[in-house]
Amino acid sequence: MSIPVQKNDVVVTDVIGLTHDGEGVGRVDGFTLFIQGALPGEQVRAKVLKVKKQYGYAKLLDTLKASPDRVDAPCAIYEQCGGCQLQHMSYEAQLRWKRQHVIDNLQRIGKLQIADGDADAGVPGVGQRGAGIIVHDTIGMDEPWRYRNKAQVPIGMGGAGQGTPDSLVGGFYARGSHRIIDMDECLIQHERNDDAVRKVKQIGRKLGVTAYDEESGRGLLRHVMVRSGFVSGEVMVVLITNGSRIPQVEKWIEGIREALPDVTSIVQNVNQKKTNVIFGEETKVLWGSEVIYDELDGIRFAISARSFYQVNPLQTVALYRNAVEYAGLSGTETVIDAYCGIGTISLFLARQAGRVYGVEIVPEAIEDAGRNAALNGITNAEFEAGPAEVVIPRWREEGIVADVIVVDPPRKGCDPALLDTILKMKPERVVYVSCNPSTLARDLRVLEDGGYRAVEVQPVDMFPWTVHIESVCLLVKN
Ligand code: SAH
Repeated sequence: MSIPVQKNDVVVTDVIGLTHDGEGVGRVDGFTLFIQGALPGEQVRAKVLKVKKQYGYAKLLDTLKASPDRVDAPCAIYEQCGGCQLQHMSYEAQLRWKRQHVIDNLQRIGKLQIADGDADAGVPGVGQRGAGIIVHDTIGMDEPWRYRNKAQVPIGMGGAGQGTPDSLVGGFYARGSHRIIDMDECLIQHERNDDAVRKVKQIGRKLGVTAYDEESGRGLLRHVMVRSGFVSGEVMVVLITNGSRIPQVEKWIEGIREALPDVTSIVQNVNQKKTNVIFGEETKVLWGSEVIYDELDGIRFAISARSFYQVNPLQTVALYRNAVEYAGLSGTETVIDAYCGIGTISLFLARQAGRVYGVEIVPEAIEDAGRNAALNGITNAEFEAGPAEVVIPRWREEGIVADVIVVDPPRKGCDPALLDTILKMKPERVVYVSCNPSTLARDLRVLEDGGYRAVEVQPVDMFPWTVHIESVCLLVKN
């Protein structure tokens, strides 16, 4: 087939869909164009940027017919940044789109039948319902801004209109590039984190700290990470450096403590590798505690620099409550929490289970998990560090039989060996917490083929204004 458009052509097209990256899908004589910023139902004028064999990319010039879902993006740097992808879409429309995206994946990849009718018109009890999986309406936030508890900003040297050429900047990579643009505030970030990042940068500039340069591999400061406890108010600052010696480190610490009285922990992480991976292997406490504390639904958590901790604590509670509900516990069950991080879901489960076993690959997180159980006087949870797909088969050989298995894997989904072990262990219920609907759908297919039935899915909006979709799914043994 000949390609009907060329680079730099200006075309008019109807927008017929939205990709998982949040780009509008246009069609010109049957040829697909992805158009950032265009919404389904719109008619737009766009300039072709790039053409490949099967599809191309175009830049939105103007909307000839606008979608009723279109809103003005409130963030001044939305277009350059790329951290958010859906600020031009109303929040209600986002929530609808996220549910639909889950449905599309379950159908297309999981080959699952979706129960029809009104999603939330009452959920029939397990086992007494008709065919198909129920997909509930997405649980959204009442106030979907300033929800993040963690900021992680790349640091670089200024230039091109950003202060003096040798002064340090920090913020975000310009969309599709590795140029770092300085940022003062981020509307999805908690104000306390914005404030901390701003001040750490100021102190760095004053002390003449050099920024790491990707190309030459020289310079000191690579990233600044700030995490704060929404309930505790405690703040951790992590300086990720290229090299372990920080000149004038005492002045750094003093400056941070003076400017930011909420900081209870200042940590350095050393990363000398030429890599996009943010953290290196070596972590040391510069001042204060090696953890900060936070609380979810009355449970206290110690969180160290390298541990995973959900970034949206308000919605995390909603997510975990759903996971616990799906686990259907009566107080006697044995539960496995795979990919348990610092034991957050494990401890929610432990309050209602007989015994909980958590497994996680990052050793620091498992240390946190053990400490967290003790911190809350929870004695029926134990944790082991290692890959879930190795540890759980061993537990099975040792005679541990789970009534319920909860999994919460990273984006790539569950390891096939883990799914296989679940099918062999035959728990009554599997609760699947997912941050990626496509791998969720793939794994649900395996579990369905192995004798489980996917009953219902609850999408929870953990990442408003971005395309990321979190959901929790209940499966029962046939
Ligand atoms: N359930 C936790 C963490 C979920 S994030 C929470 O809600 O906070 C996924 C976790 O899986 C991360 O902590 C990551 O370190 C861990 N992980 C990644 N691969 C793993 C594997 N193969 N085995 C066990 N854990 C793994």
